[in-house]
Parts: sequence; C-alpha cells; structure tokens
Amino acid sequence: MLPGEACLPEAIFALNGQTVNRLFDTLCQDSDHRLKIQFAELFKALQIQWFASHRSVCPRCNNRHVIRKGWRQRLLKSSRGQLAFVVLQARCKTCGRTFRPFTSRSGIPTARRFLEELLTKATGLAVQMPFARSSRILKTLTGGSISHEGIRQKVAQEAEKITLPTQNAGQTVLVDATKVKAGTKQRGAPVHLAIAVEPGPTVAGRKTITKRLLHLHVGNVGPLRQRLKDLRPQYLVHDGGESYSDCAENVQRCRWHLVHQLKHYLWQDGLAFEERGFYQDCLYSVLWDNKSGRERLNLFIEDMKKFNFPTTAYHLQEARNETFTWTQNPGFTYMTTSPLEREMRELNRRADVGARWSSKGIENVLKLLFHKRLNSEPDGSLCSG
Ligand SMILES: [Zn+2]
Repeated sequence: MLPGEACLPEAIFALNGQTVNRLFDTLCQDSDHRLKIQFAELFKALQIQWFASHRSVCPRCNNRHVIRKGWRQRLLKSSRGQLAFVVLQARCKTCGRTFRPFTSRSGIPTARRFLEELLTKATGLAVQMPFARSSRILKTLTGGSISHEGIRQKVAQEAEKITLPTQNAGQTVLVDATKVKAGTKQRGAPVHLAIAVEPGPTVAGRKTITKRLLHLHVGNVGPLRQRLKDLRPQYLVHDGGESYSDCAENVQRCRWHLVHQLKHYLWQDGLAFEERGFYQDCLYSVLWDNKSGRERLNLFIEDMKKFNFPTTAYHLQEARNETFTWTQNPGFTYMTTSPLEREMRELNRRADVGARWSSKGIENVLKLLFHKRLNSEPDGSLCSG
C-alpha cells in the first residue's frame, strides 16, 4: 500500500523504466472513470433540485399541474470519453403529455450527441487542417472522436452563425482577393476579404497591429462592394484589382503594389528586365514623398509617355486620383495592404490542400478560421456585429 492509500496494480512495476508512464496512465483512467460517475451523479442531483424549486409548465396545454415521471438515458461524447447520464422526465396531469422540462436549460438539445467542448476542439483543428486529419488527431489526443463528415457539418453550422463586426470608426479598412482551387472553373474562384486595422499595443518592444475581420466570401466582387457600401469606412486601401471609389469616404491605392505592379507594366511595354528596377526605385521615392509627390507623379507619367511606355503611363494615370489620398487624410494608419498579406499566407496555407473545394465549403472554413483568428477578445469570447 502506498502513502495515498491507493491500491495500484502490479503491472505498473512490470517493465523497467516504464513505471512513471504506467502510473500516469493508470491514474488518468482512474480519474476519467471518477469524472464520469461524478458527472452523472451531480447532473442528476441538479435536476432534482431544479424541479423542486421551479414550476414546470406543460408545453402542450400550458397547465402547471406537472409531476415527475422517471428518467431517460442519454449519452454524450466528450474529450474525456463517453458520458452516460439520465435526464428528468415529467408528465402533465391534465393532458397526459410526457416531456423533459430541463432539456432547453441544460444546453444539450435532444438531438445533440457531442458535448460542446469536444465540438469546439474539433472545429479548432478543422480550420487549421483537413477534416480527415482533424478527426484523426482529435481521436489521438483526446478521449473523444467525431467523423470527418461530422466535423465538416459542424464547421458549416458554425460559419452560418457568424455575425461579423461592423465597427470600423477611425480604423483603416484593407481589402484584397486571392484565387483558391474551388468551384467549377479551371483557374479556381476568388476569395475576397476586408479587415479593419489599427496600431496595437507594443509587445516585447515590437509594434503590433490589431486586426478585425469585417468580410469574407468566395465568388465575384459584388457582395464585398455591397458590404463596404453598408459599412461606409472612412479609410480604405486596396491593390487596384477592382474599383472601390464609391465604397468608402477616402480611398487609397496600396503604395507597395503600385511599385510592384510597375515591373509588370514595363515588361508589357517591352523594357528589358535589368532596367525595370531603376524606374521602380524612382516611383518608390515619388510615392513616399508627402510634400511634392503629387507633382512628381505627374512628371513621372509624362516621362513614361515620352519614353514610349504607354501601358505604364495608362495604369499610373488610372491610379493617380487614389495615390495621395493619405496626404490629405491624416487618419490613414496604413497606406499599403501589407498587414493583410500575412493573413493571405494563412489563407493559402489552409486552402491549398491539393483537392478541389466547393465554393461554399472553403468559404465556411476560411470564415471560421479568420473569425477565430482575428475577432477574439482578450477574454477568449468572439466579437460580433
Ligand atoms: Zn398538458
């Protein structure tokens, strides 16, 4: 007998060097076993107490003459194994209807087979990796299991319930799109997303950025434009892929993208690879010049025309109106979409799994991923509209 009066099986000492591991396993099994017994006992006691102190009403005839009528068995899967317990039944003395008065309060509707905590762990894995792998890992690391199809359905349900935040006052809203392998078209379908950003607290001497997901969908740009029109952000930054001029108070073209895209336009105008960098450097110094940048950009465009680079000149002319919005609106905290690039990498990491997605399928996963990733409050709750 050990000091704790625990009677341990001989098998714990059977193998050299394995005693500690075996002791741990035995105690885990023991504590899970006791957890199940305690859960069943306490939940039963709670229901008796609740029934004695609350007046139940018949759901059919609203009569209050209700008596207890035995117990019904229930099973729920949890991360600590299957829980077996009983649910209190009641009967209406007037119409004879039998019902379970505690079901709606207990948080376990009749059709529910899993405890919420197991589902939360499952969807937490599923936004990071394929459903089948999530299912396998869940089974390895916990005492519960959910099929990959069960996880997919739960992700869809969760995504359906999400209400994204609308608050963006004083924040800069960044929009971007990227293609994912989804839908019927060979080249895939675009994912559009919008996030609100503002400088966050300095952590360990490093500046951080606070981001909130405002919108995400898969398909053509229409729903994003509509969402922006509803939100009416004060400051919007985009990379020029679509026009957003009527979607926000002040619209700024991403400066980094303008410089980056210049290389492509110069290539279209037939300029040799080695010479493109020079013009990119010129444009860079123009775009970051808050005093005379505007005039210098006009001169730069004139030069492009003179040097016979019509495509380049055309694209810069198109972007001109939205290039120096930031100099007149000090509220812009970011003039590039860079804070969004980090999120785009995360997006591609989850979306790029080799298989082809359905548009709705990938939208559900990504919406839940970024909602969990960006919209969590410090206390762990999720913020919403
Ligand atoms: Zn009744």
